Amino acid sequence: MAELVFFSGTMDCGKSTLALQMDHNHRARGRSGLIYTKLDRAGSDVLSSRLGLSTAAHEVSDDLDFWDAVVEHATNGLRVDFLICDEVQFYTPAQVEQLAKLVDEVGIDVFAFGITADFRTQLFPGSRRMIELADRVQVLQVEALCWCGRRATHNARVVDGVMVVEGEQVVVGDTKPGTETLVEYEVLCRRHFMRRMNSAAARAAATSPDVLPFDLDVCPVPQA
Ligand SMILES: [Zn+2]
Repeated sequence: MAELVFFSGTMDCGKSTLALQMDHNHRARGRSGLIYTKLDRAGSDVLSSRLGLSTAAHEVSDDLDFWDAVVEHATNGLRVDFLICDEVQFYTPAQVEQLAKLVDEVGIDVFAFGITADFRTQLFPGSRRMIELADRVQVLQVEALCWCGRRATHNARVVDGVMVVEGEQVVVGDTKPGTETLVEYEVLCRRHFMRRMNSAAARAAATSPDVLPFDLDVCPVPQA
């Protein structure tokens, strides 16, 4: 029975590495699949992992129709047993529905990978639809760690070293074109997310450069 599975986790938890492993495992069993991704950090038409592995992938644009794309492959005589869909948080809800339809009506396995919530702790629309429709949601066991050593559960956006909680939902981490503004992401535990205490702020707040403020009392909760 084909399945729609959503593997979720924070950034840095090994999602793309697992996506590549999954593709390898299924191919090794003689199955044939297609790989999709969107806004991968390594560029267009590539799925890359932080461990340095990468593979060619189809870039998902907002107007891509998964149903049409897979039917086109089948019409050209190419078998499609499974889809690997990385960065699914950036897909549209309609695209997630197309994936569910492929599972139900064509019997294709869809393995989707993505982060659930953005830097404001709001669900991405694509991830929300995935959680609503998936046969299984699997939270990845490789856990990313906050600078304090606790399990990192939240994705923080850091602009020029300062954590922000307002702005556009999708901004790929990098220097913004035409500006000197550097956008980065950092995973934090909820406590430090709520206190807006990313690693740079923690270092700045430390009384001694050798002592990080692990004690939450020295990380004030910002006034709303
Ligand atoms: Zn922490």
